[in-house]
Amino acid sequence: MGADFSVILAVILCLCAIFGGVLGNQKNAGAIGVLLGLFLGPFGVIAAGLLDGRALCPHCQDRVSRHASICPHCRSALKLQA
Ligand SMILES: [Zn+2]
Repeated sequence: MGADFSVILAVILCLCAIFGGVLGNQKNAGAIGVLLGLFLGPFGVIAAGLLDGRALCPHCQDRVSRHASICPHCRSALKLQA
């Protein structure tokens, strides 16, 4: 019984790590999402859905992709982050 529970828990945590990674990846924080899902399970997946790894535009303070060279909101040129 105890062993079965451990296996089920391991499978659930693996699934949560995958979901967390997918959610985090959409926000440029895939590795953080995987870790959240792995250690916190379903709560980590929720946290991964809430986190936002994107950069802030210095001009309009909106969220922008780290790879963007021009802000899609205010059209200001952004410094590329290495
Ligand atoms: Zn902007």
